[in-house]
Amino acid sequence: MKTPIPEVHSAELATAGRIQHLITCPACGRTHRHLEAGERRGPCGSRYTIVAREDPGEAAA
Ligand SMILES: [Zn+2]
Repeated sequence: MKTPIPEVHSAELATAGRIQHLITCPACGRTHRHLEAGERRGPCGSRYTIVAREDPGEAAA
């Protein structure tokens, strides 16, 4: 059996010309930062899938 990888929603933070994804770790409860969304491994060793908040450029009329 495979352990399901939890999904977390990121808050985007613009720093020095880059976007960082801030997530609250489902395993340790701390905030981890990643440069890309998708499946990541946190510094605490847990795995999760970062879901980007929303697609910029998709404007609903
Ligand atoms: Zn963690």
